[in-house]
Order: sequence, then structure tokens, then C-alpha cells
Amino acid sequence: MVQSSQPPSKSGIRVLVVGAGFAGLTAAIECHRKGHSVTLLEKFPELKILGDIISFGPNSSRIFQRWPGVAEQLDALSQRADGLEIKNWLGETILKQTWTADQEAFGIRFDGHRGEFHEVVYKHALEIGVDVRLGARVEDYFENDDEAGVILEGGERITANVVLAAEGVRSQGRKIVLGYDDKPKPSGYAVYRCWFDAGEIAKDPDLQFFTNNGDKHVAWLGPDVHFIAASVKNGKDFSWVCVSNRLY
Ligand SMILES: Cc1cc2nc3c(=O)[nH]c(=O)nc-3n(C[C@H](O)[C@H](O)[C@H](O)COP(=O)(O)OP(=O)(O)OC[C@H]3O[C@@H](n4cnc5c(N)ncnc54)[C@H](O)[C@@H]3O)c2cc1C
Repeated sequence: MVQSSQPPSKSGIRVLVVGAGFAGLTAAIECHRKGHSVTLLEKFPELKILGDIISFGPNSSRIFQRWPGVAEQLDALSQRADGLEIKNWLGETILKQTWTADQEAFGIRFDGHRGEFHEVVYKHALEIGVDVRLGARVEDYFENDDEAGVILEGGERITANVVLAAEGVRSQGRKIVLGYDDKPKPSGYAVYRCWFDAGEIAKDPDLQFFTNNGDKHVAWLGPDVHFIAASVKNGKDFSWVCVSNRLY
């Protein structure tokens, strides 16, 4: 793992990143590390701990491992089950997908609370000196032979050498790059999810296996309805996700 907290040399390149989700934060941190001058624009006036479970496999965890202290903080917040047990709706085990060997071969994975992970990455961006502007909603993009940039709600015009659109699923920037509106398409499925203190689970004899002896990750597959439950942080927190095309 190569970590560096050396201040970046100045490349003279100005980068604007739109959206402070994981994509925007990662792009901003990496551009800053390359010595570019970065401004990150986020429409939310403050970043709260939102969401529930999210997974970063080895392909993305290796990026976090480059940033001093970040992987260590994510690891402390992560689920540490040895794999995912997949059952049918009758409770019979179909498959145990083991992660231990995968992690040895490909690297660590981080499964945990999206908002907690996001806060770690956001704070790292601030610590290394990324210029983050919250409450900055991009209304439009522009590009001509001389310059490129964005126009904020309220009319402020900001120019840069590079503009990265990382504003998520309804990205306006992607529409400009692709030349058409790539709208999200409904899959027919709805997902219901929640995250809570595992205290009640630990009291229930039928569910105690989730919180005893480390974290567990179990999925039940049924006709049109699937349920995934996970204990996290050594049985302290609990997350469940129900996916169905009957609830849509
Ligand atoms: C609040 C929130 C909660 C989520 N919870 C979960 C979860 O629990 N589990 C899970 O698997 N995934 C969750 N996701 C989705 C997941 O984080 C992302 O889909 C995935 O990480 C891709 O990240 P992204 O950076 O491309 O997009 P996003 O995470 O969607 O980030 C896009 C960012 O751009 C900002 N933005 C959008 N339009 C503009 C604009 N015009 N000007 C300025 N800023 C703009 C948004 O406010 C947002 O912060 C959540 C996303 C968000 C925003």
C-alpha cells in the first residue's frame, strides 16, 4: 500500500468537480493529489449521515488505501463477516459465498453504513485541502474554444480547465456529454431498507446467531421477494434490505 500525505506540487490545472458523492469526492481527492487546483461543488447545504448499507469491493477499496488513515477508519466501521450465506425461502442453505479467500487474493472489502463511510471520505477531502463549496447547485455547464465551466443557481459563473460531472443518477452533465437524456429505467423492483441498533436482535433467541461470534451476512431468496440481513461492527448494528417486484 503506497500512502502519501505530501502536499501536491502545483500543476497549474484547475478542476471543477460537481457533486460530493463518492465519485465526486474520489475524483477531487485524486486530482488534488496530482497537484491540480480543485473546487468541489455540492448542492446540499450540509452533508448529513444518510443512507444505509453500501459495499466497496477490492477494486475500489484499493483507492481508499492510498489515502493516509482512510482505510483504517473505514475498516473500523465495516462489517467483518467471512462471507454471504444464501438460503431459499424455506431457510435451506443453497450456497455459502466465502470472502476470506477473495480478500487474500484481491484485497480487503468495506461493507458498512453509506453515511458513515461518506463522512470519512468527505473529512479526508477537507483535511488535505480540497476546496469544497456546499450549497452550490450547478444549473448549467458551458464549453467553448476558450473556456469551460459551470453556472450556479443565482448566476455565478465559474471557469476551469477540466469540469467533472459527478452529480449522480440524474446527471445533467452526462446528458451534455452523451448528447441525449439517459434517464433511469424502472426495473419493476422496489427496495425497502433499514439500519438500526442490533440490541433487539441480540435478545431474540431465533436471531441471536446474527450477533453472537462476529458479524453475519445472510440472504433469503424467494419467488419475486429477496431479503438480505447483516450484522455490522461485531454485532453492534444491523441492516436489512428487502427487494421485491410485488411491493412496487
Ligand atoms: C444521500 C444519499 C444516500 C445514499 N444511500 C445509499 C445507500 O444507503 N446504499 C447504497 O448502496 N447507495 C446509496 N446511495 C447511492 C450511492 O452512494 C451512489 O449511487 C454511488 O455511490 C454512486 O455515487 P455518485 O457519487 O456517482 O453519486 P451520488 O452518491 O448520487 O452523489 C451525487 C452528488 O451530487 C450532488 N448533486 C446532484 N446534482 C447536483 C447539482 N446540480 N449541483 C451540485 N451538486 C449536485 C448530489 O447532492 C450528491 O451529493 C446514496 C446516495 C445519496 C446521494
